[in-house]
Amino acid sequence: MPEKLRFYNTLSRKKEVFKSLKDKEVRMYTCGPTVYWYQHIGNLRSYVFPDILKRILKINGYKVKHVINVTDVGHLTSDADTGEDKIEKAAKQEGKTAKEISEHYLKVFLQDLKKMNIYEPDFWPKATENIKEQIEIIKKLEKKGFTYKTSDGIYFDTSKLKDYGKLAKLNIKGLEAGKRVSFGEKRNKTDFALWKFSEEPGKRQQEWASPWGVGFPGWHIECSAMSMKYLGETFDIHTGGEDHISVHHTNEIAQSEASTGKPFVKYWLHGAFLMFKGEKVSKSKGGLYTLLELEELGYKPMHLRYFYLLGHYRKPLDFTLENLDAAKNAYEKLKNILSEFKKSREKKNKKNIDAAYRQFLEIVNDDLNMPKALSYLWDILREDRLNQAEKYELALRFDGIFGLDLGKEEKINIPGDVKKLVAEREKHRLKKDFKTADKIREKINKLGFVVEDKEKGFVVKKR
Ligand code: AMP
Ligand code: ZN
Repeated sequence: MPEKLRFYNTLSRKKEVFKSLKDKEVRMYTCGPTVYWYQHIGNLRSYVFPDILKRILKINGYKVKHVINVTDVGHLTSDADTGEDKIEKAAKQEGKTAKEISEHYLKVFLQDLKKMNIYEPDFWPKATENIKEQIEIIKKLEKKGFTYKTSDGIYFDTSKLKDYGKLAKLNIKGLEAGKRVSFGEKRNKTDFALWKFSEEPGKRQQEWASPWGVGFPGWHIECSAMSMKYLGETFDIHTGGEDHISVHHTNEIAQSEASTGKPFVKYWLHGAFLMFKGEKVSKSKGGLYTLLELEELGYKPMHLRYFYLLGHYRKPLDFTLENLDAAKNAYEKLKNILSEFKKSREKKNKKNIDAAYRQFLEIVNDDLNMPKALSYLWDILREDRLNQAEKYELALRFDGIFGLDLGKEEKINIPGDVKKLVAEREKHRLKKDFKTADKIREKINKLGFVVEDKEKGFVVKKR
């Protein structure tokens, strides 16, 4: 048996041995996209990490029930329950309906997930399709005395919950001491909206009737409602970007635990940010690409996935096109090596393969150490302990976790001018005019292709 599975739990700030609540089944929730714009490569990092986590859980014999929500209402431009609803704002700017906006960006996001080899979750609930469930939780909270009303909505009174802020280890007293910053009608700085009233009913595109008035749900209540609906009142794992620790996830815990009286989630796992020159990737500071934009620059989704795996999910990862180039080169080299090894007809020793695989599992089971797992793969390829056929089989088995399409043969489209040059070069080579043949080879290289001479004939590959 490999080393026990261990994850770093934000709740305890420790690596803990993983033990599922139900035998051999893991229920897991991932905060999904706010579909008002394209998800950028920072966002995508926050979906590759739970994908790896899911693959590791599966390989350890767990059945995984996974939910990713779609935030199509209620996420305001400010985390402090003020500002515009991001979807309504985008609809106005683009002259479209809120539904058109959310459907369009969700569609692109789904395509991105597919290209990135991210497994789809079992459930994809949308906030707008779970309004009833959200209202039900707010009603429960109201009954238990956790809510109060202001002129703009129904709020959660965080002072009523004795362990509010436990995930982020918030210093509530310190926060209260900084009261100079105004927080309007809210009773405490950390209180948050459960339901917001429409400023002028009939003007918003997305609003619903509720026991408190026409309006829309707060962003945090969406995740409590959708996670508990599909996974139960207490479930195993919740993931998201680390920016969610102090507000969004803190508030999800507060309202869920206050309404049920039970622990909400056993393991909280957070992914660190994708950075650019020391700051998170952003429109103003740079590094903010979409997958589509990177594809237009000639990168493949697998180059990006390989790049993500070079960093541990809990550590910030620096994005630059140079770093992505390095990942691209390493990935292409890896694929070339494996396409050679694939041809090996050597006899495989199962014992050797299993021993190396066990070691790999120990690495990935230790809090998803993907950088170490990748360098372990390179070590195996370099060393002489295993033969080529064994190495190839191992790489494919590792790829069950990496998800890098390591065994997939790529059909390359060779442009007409390259084909012509290749034929011309071959003619000269056969005539033993190697000087001219080499000159043509250089031309081919410049066009992004390489010709490799083999015992019988030659192959053309992308550079
Ligand atoms: P949003 O669509 O804004 O709700 O964000 C979707 C997910 O992307 C959330 O889990 C965020 O925490 C995460 N996220 C946002 N920016 C970054 C970034 N620069 N690096 C990694 N994850 C991010
Ligand atoms: Zn969420």
